Amino acid sequence: MSLEVRGLAAGYGRLEVLHGVDLDAGEGQLVAVIGANGAGKTTLLRALSGLVPATAGTVRLAGVDVTGSGPERLARAGLAHVPENRLVFPTLTVEDNLVLGAYTRRRQPAAERTRVRDRALALFPRLQPRLQQAAGTLSGGEQQMLAIARGLMAQPRVLVLDEPSVGLAPRLVGEIFTALGRLRDDGLTLVAVEQNARAAFAVADSVSVMDRGRVVLHGDAATLATDPRVTAAFLGGG
Ligand code: ATP
Repeated sequence: MSLEVRGLAAGYGRLEVLHGVDLDAGEGQLVAVIGANGAGKTTLLRALSGLVPATAGTVRLAGVDVTGSGPERLARAGLAHVPENRLVFPTLTVEDNLVLGAYTRRRQPAAERTRVRDRALALFPRLQPRLQQAAGTLSGGEQQMLAIARGLMAQPRVLVLDEPSVGLAPRLVGEIFTALGRLRDDGLTLVAVEQNARAAFAVADSVSVMDRGRVVLHGDAATLATDPRVTAAFLGGG
């Protein structure tokens, strides 16, 4: 399912943070969004998933205008949001966190939910032996895997992720991004906000650079990785 964003404006009360964002993610593409602190990356994801209302512009999923839809309606339309800081429910087991992820699909047959769960566990095998463990006792990397697996329980066709690699050791960053690459190869559309520009460029199809509430640069990852504006600001002068 494609995601198309045009001229999106949004903010908090009278504070406008997004001043007209354009973003495209084709079906089965992984788009990374990078940018300085405070550029509005998190706000963009919140606006895409209906947590912050758009004040101008349009959001389309597979060509259908979904601007102004609330989070539950967007979830039913196929969009799932993995928020920053791995917001799992710490006192619930891994298994119960996964069950909650399927909330919008609660009327589906149990066998179907089990199939979706098994697919998510196959992507993150570390979670399998920990299904009965309280989610708060997982390592940071495992919690991030659970947050993504929980998002997958809603059977999204577009998955937006806020800083999936933050605070993780390089090996785990690699595991997470390998999993995102697999999901992309299976046809899922992904938009990942990422501080770790190197990890983002290594796996993304295209990259959007945000600055002060706008996307100021966009292109395929291989091309942008050699753009001096990107190398100087995000890839350590590479
Ligand atoms: P970072 O990389 O530091 O996470 P970001 O690019 O994700 O930054 P946002 O978190 O979207 O940026 O923040 C953009 C601006 O919106 C900031 O100036 C921030 O202070 C402001 N902001 C974010 N959340 C709120 C809120 N709930 N209420 C008011 N202002 C907010």
